[in-house]
Amino acid sequence: MSLQFRDTLSGETRPFTPLNSAQVGIYSCGPTIYGPAHIGNFRSFLFADTLVRWLRASGRTVRWVVNLTDIDDKIIRTAAAEGIEIRALTDRWEAVFRADMAALRMATPDEMPRATEHIPEQIALVQQLLDRGHAYRTEDGSIFFKISSWPAYGKLARLDPEAMRVGERVEADEYSKDDVRDFVLWKAAKPGEPSWDGPLGPGRPGWHLECSAMSMRYLGESFDLHTGGIDLVFPHHEDEIAQSEAATGKPFVGTWMHCAHLHVSGDKMSKSLGNISRVSDLLAGGAEPRALRLALISAHYRTNLNYNDDSLTAAASAIARIDAFVAALNARSSITTGDVEADQRAATLAEASWSRFAAAMDDDLAVPEALAALFDLVRDGNRLLDANCSGAGAQALIAVLEKINVVLAVLPDRAVLPAGAEALLAERIAARAAKDWARSDALRDELASLGVLIDDGRDGQRWRLAGPQA
Ligand SMILES: [Zn+2]
Repeated sequence: MSLQFRDTLSGETRPFTPLNSAQVGIYSCGPTIYGPAHIGNFRSFLFADTLVRWLRASGRTVRWVVNLTDIDDKIIRTAAAEGIEIRALTDRWEAVFRADMAALRMATPDEMPRATEHIPEQIALVQQLLDRGHAYRTEDGSIFFKISSWPAYGKLARLDPEAMRVGERVEADEYSKDDVRDFVLWKAAKPGEPSWDGPLGPGRPGWHLECSAMSMRYLGESFDLHTGGIDLVFPHHEDEIAQSEAATGKPFVGTWMHCAHLHVSGDKMSKSLGNISRVSDLLAGGAEPRALRLALISAHYRTNLNYNDDSLTAAASAIARIDAFVAALNARSSITTGDVEADQRAATLAEASWSRFAAAMDDDLAVPEALAALFDLVRDGNRLLDANCSGAGAQALIAVLEKINVVLAVLPDRAVLPAGAEALLAERIAARAAKDWARSDALRDELASLGVLIDDGRDGQRWRLAGPQA
């Protein structure tokens, strides 16, 4: 099967063909940096991370952009309430976001642009919309997108144009719009709020504008993939499409991919419901970061993920199974003798596991099936260790685990042996084979002095590095 994705706009699952064969461009709507992101937010970011990792693992060059929203009403209110500058607030929460990303092993995006650092691009986009008759200015100096000038509006969210925006907070009190459906591009300056001068007059950009301006700035007017949580379909992404395509006259995005909600006891995780869990709180409470990562990526991105304490416990025991398997493979990997047939079966298992994993990921990122391939590999690989495969067999299984890990990032950190330790480990295997226990113990002490600790188990000696381990 070739790579295929479900596109929200067309509603179809289609083969993925990049617009430009040299590079795949991906834009993911990022966090509003005025407080900690919760694990529902991170589910969506880790979905994008898995997408990027899979594209790279299958040989494509990817440019991944994740924006940081650092100006909006909530940010202005929070900074005012805390009595600090907006920049101090957003710097603090950007640092927390980056720390959470790193803890959850999210790849670092190629660009993480801030809205306030791309004001000229946003002004230019509004200017283009004014020039083309898709925007208008109201009495107070704000500028709105004119939805009646854009008949395709509502296609992404499959909305009835007449029924749109019912229930959305109507800003009619604040701004005198021509049409209640129209959305703000540029908010005229108000006392006590930050604003930027320029050809549009003093004001600040509306939220939707930054994603159009910054995605096109880094990825071009048309690019391949745009991701976000399902709750961004409307109005955010609908508005992005309208303002981008009306300005450029070109198709904005090749494939729209949306991640479903994370549910807690049947409810969506959200600040307003007060049922949020934060990454840093969970980790401070002793959660293993890889277990949290696994719990958040384990459901298919288009299905709701039901999260509770048991999800984390189940993921932690899955991680423990992986770790025990990796340790047993490492212990076996330097053994030269073993069962030849078991080695052949290990090679076959490695190849079949990768094919199964890759086919699942190609099929619209079917992570549950990809994980099933991984855990069947763990189960069957343990049987081959029991059947006495040699180091060659173990190495074949380690190699496929590492390929899978490039995409899932759930294996233990690869411990690097200090210089000289490899030779001592090999010598100790030989000493134990010769039942020279005195030499074996002396080598154990020598390794310990290098920071390499030995456990002797059924599979032979296993080593680990002294000190804190990830
Ligand atoms: Zn966005």
